[in-house]
Parts: sequence; structure tokens; C-alpha cells
Amino acid sequence: MTTPIRTAAVIGAGFGGLALAIRLQSAGVQTTLFEARDKPGGRAYVWHDQGYTFDAGPTVITDPSALEELFQLSGRRLSDYVELLPVQPFYRLCWEDGSRFDYANDQAALDAQIAARDPRDLQGYRDFLAYAREVFEQGYLRLGSVPFLNFRSMVQAGPQLARLGAWRSVYDVVARFIHDEQLRQAFSFHSLLVGGNPFDTSAIYALIHALEREWGVWFPRGGTGALVQALVRLFQDLGGQLRLDAPVERIEVQDGQARALRVHGERLAFDQVASNADVVHTYDRLLGHTPRGLLEARRLKGKRWSMSLFVVHFGLSRPQPQLAHHTVLFGPRYRGLIDAIFKGSALAEDFSLYLHAPCITDPSLAPPGGSSHYVLAPVPHLGQVPLDWDVEGPRLRERILDYLEARAIPHLRRDLVTCRIFTPADFRDELGAHLGSAFSLEPVLTQSAWFRPHNRDDGIPNLFIVGAGTHPGAGVPGVVGSAKATARLMLEAAA
Ligand SMILES: Cc1cc2nc3c(=O)[nH]c(=O)nc-3n(C[C@H](O)[C@H](O)[C@H](O)COP(=O)(O)OP(=O)(O)OC[C@H]3O[C@@H](n4cnc5c(N)ncnc54)[C@H](O)[C@@H]3O)c2cc1C
Repeated sequence: MTTPIRTAAVIGAGFGGLALAIRLQSAGVQTTLFEARDKPGGRAYVWHDQGYTFDAGPTVITDPSALEELFQLSGRRLSDYVELLPVQPFYRLCWEDGSRFDYANDQAALDAQIAARDPRDLQGYRDFLAYAREVFEQGYLRLGSVPFLNFRSMVQAGPQLARLGAWRSVYDVVARFIHDEQLRQAFSFHSLLVGGNPFDTSAIYALIHALEREWGVWFPRGGTGALVQALVRLFQDLGGQLRLDAPVERIEVQDGQARALRVHGERLAFDQVASNADVVHTYDRLLGHTPRGLLEARRLKGKRWSMSLFVVHFGLSRPQPQLAHHTVLFGPRYRGLIDAIFKGSALAEDFSLYLHAPCITDPSLAPPGGSSHYVLAPVPHLGQVPLDWDVEGPRLRERILDYLEARAIPHLRRDLVTCRIFTPADFRDELGAHLGSAFSLEPVLTQSAWFRPHNRDDGIPNLFIVGAGTHPGAGVPGVVGSAKATARLMLEAAA
């Protein structure tokens, strides 16, 4: 007879850690969530400065039903904790030749824009959407929150993956359906949102397009930080304990089991342990004193890591009604720039940018009459191009602000009230991200599903992984799905 599991520790309060902690606590497991930083959220951290609120990370909130499910587990409703506002258009895509494309959940508006570019692409887009819907059903609805613990599960999924052409890249599949090069970019860039190179990432990631069309794009009133706070409040209402400023120093292993955590030198015993921290950090730092930790850390360091990001947060004294909530500003090159980011040996001279303008949806994120923003550029991770970001960061910030002033925000410099940057070195130092990667292991087919670190450790049976480094991968829906897979394993073990 097995002893019932009564206590669990979750290391890291990112979306994955929070979602897992809620699932465990809802099932009656006394759960303690340890977060190294002073605030929860992980990549979804929040800064406040002079009345401006800056979300640090995720801003495109999709699949609200996965979030709603966390509340329903205990008979509660998400809307009692936070309000999700619809965002339209989903994104505005702009090119240097002055053309633009408003990607929205309005078929007639989409058709009109597509037909104006190339009438052949009307049917091509419909065929692409049908394909994206099928991979969405197979890859997300069916397999997105199922743990791949053994090779048999991968073999079982094999025929479906083969039929959908999962070995092809997202861009290749889009290009098979669509002729116009800018539309190809518009429908293939999504894999970048989860750290994937559209020219290398499996076509399965076309599912993001269907996911957005199916359930929309949302933004929490008060910013993504308000959604994080809602999850924290739910966890605490359920009786869970959140400890901030509590970096876990090591996971103690005895007789092949994770027995306790060391936090501020104190030994705290738990029946089960799950880590939401970076997977290399987990194995190298927290388990580096064990043969299992050393072995797995070495293996993971040899994997392909997703790109990093350079982010500039800035507050303006004026509103910017000409902007959409989410804008992608494509630079002069698409494939060439992406190659430089994922495979190059230097920082490119050009960039493509994502610009966040949350006050379009919720003006309360800035002082009256102002606007808060962030702009990000995908950049190589520190293993790809080991730059001194103390020097490069301020330079790149100036180049990006000049470019934004010329292309999207007139008088940006005049109206600038506050500005801060977050570099690949900050991803490494503040979040413990291996090589400063923004999205953990690169989501290529050979690093997906069973090939990704497993939701339960292969050597230590009561140690679990949750978040971007495990199946299914990065992005808020991904890590919330990983929490479902991991919770299932933990609760089965506890039964
Ligand atoms: C700038 C940016 C924009 C993004 N935009 C989007 C978007 O629009 N939509 C979307 O869906 N996704 C987006 N993503 C991706 C998404 O944010 C992430 O994939 C997801 O939030 C990662 O969640 P996670 O659960 O893996 O944990 P993380 O957010 O990585 O959190 C892990 C936590 O563990 C803590 N930790 C680490 N080590 C320890 C330790 N030893 N002890 C205690 N705590 C520890 C860290 O401090 C951190 O809080 C974006 C990411 C970035 C960086």
C-alpha cells in the first residue's frame, strides 16, 4: 500500500508553476510555491514606474478556456478574479514599403485584404486555415496536455504527425498554400512567439493560427500582471502558500527520491517536488550534487536553445491612438534576419520589432493622457553571440527608439517620460535562463513531445518538471497545458 501524498513544493511562480500549484491545491495536496524574485509571474513580471505599468513578458493571451479551467476545478469563475478584454485586430503587421495587414477574427475583412494582394491566396488562405485547424485538433486539443513519458507514446502519435507533414517547417507549409511573400510572413511568424524559427520549427506550430481564430486574442484589464495576481489569489484562497524572495538552493535527494528543499539554508521536507525553473538551472544548480543532475544538465546543455529577446519598456506623456494594441514591424529582411538570429555569429544591423501598446485596450496602464509600451527585438542567445549587453544594450535601445520614431511613434523622444531595458543577460541573471534564452529549448520536432525533458524526471520518480522546458513547451497556453500534464502525473502518484 502506498502512503497518500500530502505535501508538494513547486519551485518557481511562472504561469506554469502557478497553474500546477492551483491544480495540486485544488486536489487537496498542501502546496507551497517558492519564488526566487520579489514578485510572482516569472517572464510575466511587472514593473511600476511614475504611474506607468509595464508587463515584462506575455501580452497576447490566447485560449482563455485553459485559464478558466483552473478556476472551475474549485467551482470558481475566472471573471470573479480578473476581466479579460477582447483585442481587435489581433495584430497589425507593417512592412517597410508602407503596406500593412490587420490580422483579425473577421473573415470578410481578412478576405478583402488578401484579395487586394493576390486573389489566388483567398483559396490558399482557406486551405491553410483548414490545415491549421487540423493540427490544432491533433497537436493541441489531443496531445497538448498529455505527458509523453515513453517512446511508445511518440510512436503512437507518429502516423498523425506524418500525415500532417510535421517534418516540414511552418514557413514551408504556409508557402505551399500562399503566394504573396508578405502574407507568407503574416501567417508564419507566429512560431517566433514561442521561440521557434519559422524556417525550422515543425509545421505543427501552425496550430497557433487556428487557436487564435478559434478562441480570440485577449488582454486582462490591468495588464497581464492582473492575471498573474488572479492566479495567486485563487491559489491562496484555496489554502496554498506562496513564498516570495525564496530562491531554492538545492533539491535534496535520498534513496533515489526528492526529499526536501534548501531555502535560505533551511531544510524543508515535501512528499513531491516540481520545478518550474529553467531546466538547466534545475539539473545543474539544484541537483548538481547528484549523478542524475550532472548527467541531465550535460545532456540539456548540448540541445538547441531558442533565441533571446531585447526589450525596451517606455512610458510616453501622450496617447498613441494611431497604433494597434499589438503591432509587428517587419524590417527589410525576413529569412535573412531570422537566420542571423538563430544561426549567425554577430548581432544584425537590422531588426524586426513587436510593439506593445496596451493603453489602446486599457488606458489605466499609464497616467491620464499618457501611454505605456514595450518594444522587443528577437536577438541571438548568449551561446550564439556572446555580447557584452552592458555596452550593446544602450546602443541597441537608441537604434530601436530612432526607428520607432521614424516608423510608428512621431515625437517619441519629445514625449519620453521613462525607459528601461531588459537584455539577454537579464534573462540569464534574473530568471536563471540558460544562455539567456527567452523560451527555453527551441521547439523543433527533435526537441518536442517525448524528445523534450519529460514532465516527470526519468530517474527520480517524485520529481516533476513544469513550464516552457517540458512538454508541450513555451507560451502561456503551452505552460498551462504542461501544468495539466504534470499535475495528472503527480496526482496519479499520490492516489
Ligand atoms: C518578452 C516576452 C514576451 C512573451 N510574449 C508572449 C505572449 O504574448 N503570449 C504567450 O503566450 N507567451 C509569451 N511569451 C512566452 C511566455 O511568457 C513564457 O513561455 C511563459 O510565461 C513561461 O512560463 P514558465 O511557467 O515556463 O515560467 P517562467 O515565467 O520562466 O518562470 C519561472 C520562475 O521560476 C523562478 N525560479 C527560477 N529559479 C528558481 C529557484 N531556484 N527558486 C525559486 N524560483 C526560481 C523564476 O524567478 C521565475 O519566476 C513571452 C515571453 C517573453 C520573454
